[in-house]
Amino acid sequence: MKLPVKVRLKQLKKATLFEAYKNEEVLGYCQRCNNYGKNFSCPDFMFDTTSYLEPYNYATIIMTEIDTQPIKAQIDKLEIANLSSRVFNNYIKEKPDEVVDISSAISMYAFNDIKDQMTDKLIEIEKDIDNTVGLPPGSCTKCITCLKQQGQPCIYPETLRYSLEALGFMVSDIYKQCFDLGLGWTKGELPVAFYSCSALMTKEKINETMLLDKLHGIVLNINEA
Ligand code: SF4
Repeated sequence: MKLPVKVRLKQLKKATLFEAYKNEEVLGYCQRCNNYGKNFSCPDFMFDTTSYLEPYNYATIIMTEIDTQPIKAQIDKLEIANLSSRVFNNYIKEKPDEVVDISSAISMYAFNDIKDQMTDKLIEIEKDIDNTVGLPPGSCTKCITCLKQQGQPCIYPETLRYSLEALGFMVSDIYKQCFDLGLGWTKGELPVAFYSCSALMTKEKINETMLLDKLHGIVLNINEA
């Protein structure tokens, strides 16, 4: 099954992005996550967000959206065994006794796949546009276990990036502010759509049509049984 990914953009001045900066509150959520302090792309960091984003003046928020109706129509043909992902494996590693339902497995698979594609796209875009940095969704899952847990340096520092959440931004506020979207989730059910939120930080205002062109081609592939 090949599902199209709709991409929407909203370009903001950096000061407007910082209206969603709620570091203490977001850090509290991060501290409840198993990745906290165990992955180079997750807090706690040796730098602060203001310094990291200091060179940039604009944030283009990038939202991806995948309609889940085609998945719901074929859900009986999908098997968890065909939906493995690092996000799923990390989840299971921490909760080995938990029985994961098919909707959760699909959600983790979809998030992992879009996250990886978006990370690669943003790193390509950084090479094309001077003075930019991408903030892809989620944490880095390039390695089975992040080398931070073994006290070793990151093996791919050139692709290490940080999500908006990891930097202390409340992504639910960004969805609401930029796209008038409130996200809900019911355990055991697929949402109406899968969403992800990334950003491209730039020094100058950028041409959104050009950016959309560069982001073209993201597709979610789901293997059927
Ligand atoms: S590339 Fe590996 S070591 Fe580096 S942040 Fe990602 S998972 Fe950790």
